[in-house]
Amino acid sequence: MLPSVRGKLLWRIADLIEKNGAQLAELEFLNNGKARDIVAQRDVPAAADVFRYFAGWATKIYGRTAAISRPHLHAYTLKEPIGVAGLIIPWNFPLLMAAWKLAPALAAGCSCVLKPAEETPLTALRLVELVLEAGVPPGVVNLVTGYGHVAGAALAAHDGVDKIAFTGSTEVGKLIVLAAAGNLKKLSLELGGKSPTIILPDADKSAAKMAAAGSIFFNAGQVCAAGSRLFVHKSIFDEVVESVAQRAKAIRVGSGDEPETEMGPLISKKHLERVDGYVQGGIKQGAEVLAGGGRIDRDGYFFNPTVLVGADPNMEVVQEEIFGPVLVCDSFEDLDEVAAKANSSIYGLSASIWTRDLKAAHTLARKLQAGSILINAGGGLDPNLPFGGYKQSGWGREFGEDGLELYLQTKSVVIGG
Ligand code: NAD
Repeated sequence: MLPSVRGKLLWRIADLIEKNGAQLAELEFLNNGKARDIVAQRDVPAAADVFRYFAGWATKIYGRTAAISRPHLHAYTLKEPIGVAGLIIPWNFPLLMAAWKLAPALAAGCSCVLKPAEETPLTALRLVELVLEAGVPPGVVNLVTGYGHVAGAALAAHDGVDKIAFTGSTEVGKLIVLAAAGNLKKLSLELGGKSPTIILPDADKSAAKMAAAGSIFFNAGQVCAAGSRLFVHKSIFDEVVESVAQRAKAIRVGSGDEPETEMGPLISKKHLERVDGYVQGGIKQGAEVLAGGGRIDRDGYFFNPTVLVGADPNMEVVQEEIFGPVLVCDSFEDLDEVAAKANSSIYGLSASIWTRDLKAAHTLARKLQAGSILINAGGGLDPNLPFGGYKQSGWGREFGEDGLELYLQTKSVVIGG
């Protein structure tokens, strides 16, 4: 299909996402319990933005001419779609994750098989209907529901699939690497995280405290880049950590259909038990609870926003991705110490730094092993900014030109006289 036609189709998908925003918000609420308003105000526009962003890239795919050392030959590169892309996504932002994968794949000219998480197929199903309604020819975007170890595993191993783009746990990422070995399909992996928030003594404390709490409690901590480890300079540790704990206690936890809800439930009973297991394990091993510390006594999978101090750096609660509203806090005295502590993780997705000292900010930005560094800023995701992980947080970068490249391959062409 012509690049300009692909671009128009992607733009049309974005329009249809916005037009059907209320319905998509309702479906996402049914999917994973998220408040409809939050989905309508954040996830729906963000999904439309990703399609519009990659609509622009469809007409900006370039090869290059190459200066080679035999002057009678003309050489150039072509960028071609990688082929059939298998897109395997998680349950924490089901609509958005589908958009993150489908938009660049279609911009590049790939056909796709999308596999939503078994817990949350609804918005992906509706999105694929909208893709067809936009005019994408039948067969270009396909969707398979099913369990990860069945449908996901079959897709990852399939010889007719040329690439897998996966977002999910590091554990399953490794299984996909093994499954892909059969036909050596190309892989991009967006995996787990245990991201540090670092607050230096000269920081704007009130902004830093709000951001530290927001980073771990947004979406009940079910965010790959959640700031789940807080490092505060010794001189302000007690004050900052106490305020974050106060904020945690004040968060209104409830169902996505209760209007005052700020934080919704966890995705499933199994996940609730997993999160609780980490927290109880940490408490048993000596961590002190400043807020929360357990599940909420009501129907559903609700967990109290939790703040822990005094955990040993080697404890599971500090090292492993909990993927829930659980913050572990530690203090430090200088930049080398905090960089070493922050880097002491198998993960490297994101890191936040709060300081007014430019030199310290730049020093830490260099020292920290993470794909994204946020300095005095929350959020930080933008379709034009590459996103992805160092170390076991993944392979490749989504978004920006890097994100398009994941779905392209390079062919070198040489022409004689
Ligand atoms: P998960 O790895 O269990 O599942 C993710 C997807 O993989 C689902 O669609 C699942 O069905 C599928 N799957 C499971 N087993 C499979 C297998 N053997 N072969 C192929 N596919 C399989 O992850 P989850 O629990 O759904 O999501 C939470 C995880 O996702 C967290 O670890 C989180 O950090 C990560 N995550 C990462 C990012 C990022 O951009 N880095 C974004 C969101 C979530």
